Amino acid sequence: MTGELLFISDLHLSADRPLISRHLFDFLRGPAAEAEALYILGDLFDSWIGDDAIDAFSAEVIAALARLSGSGVGLYIQHGNRDFLLGEAFCEQTGAVLIGEQTCLQLGEQRVLLMHGDLLCSDDLDYQQARQMLRDLGFIADFLSKPLAQRRLLAEEYRRRSGEAISRKPAAIMDANPHSVSAYLAQHQAQLLIHGHTHRPGRQPQRLVLGAWEEDGACCLRWKDGQFELFDYPANGQQITRQTQ
Ligand code: MN
Repeated sequence: MTGELLFISDLHLSADRPLISRHLFDFLRGPAAEAEALYILGDLFDSWIGDDAIDAFSAEVIAALARLSGSGVGLYIQHGNRDFLLGEAFCEQTGAVLIGEQTCLQLGEQRVLLMHGDLLCSDDLDYQQARQMLRDLGFIADFLSKPLAQRRLLAEEYRRRSGEAISRKPAAIMDANPHSVSAYLAQHQAQLLIHGHTHRPGRQPQRLVLGAWEEDGACCLRWKDGQFELFDYPANGQQITRQTQ
């Protein structure tokens, strides 16, 4: 890779937070249009119950992503814990390439591991157990075979229960476990991890953490001229450098 790469995650797009999708549309017409590739490291959508459930809102997002990839910018998407049912039809319609939940990039001398980040929260045992169940292929096939209305209800119910569980958990167990970070890096012989999910953006030992998108913007990551730069988008109409590496 020689050009400019952008990394974002955790947009949690939904029809009831239209300002966030407006930020994304601006981002796709702005910084992303100048890049060689855009990596979306999970939780693009707040919920995704199957590619056959595309509505007017998600169709607009798909069209915006398709315009980007159609203009020649590489578009890579990783599953998050909210949108792990994004499938082939979504990729076909957007021109996105779905990348695995542990994907490495060679950037100059550095081997970089990309993950959504939920696997790193290994202290949250309840969550990891639920994750294993939800990602089971039999469970997924069964879920996708249900009528849309029923899937919607099940997803709402799951979100409600997971929200309650989160509110009871101490913040520390929902952060990335440093031993897990080291273990994944060692397993992939990578030197740096880029992830989102924890909504705690910034530079940590061995990793760069992306921020969740909010009405007032998000912390995004750019790789350019061999350097990583975390930046706020949008920030009072300007991009302000937060940290560099
Ligand atoms: Mn997440």
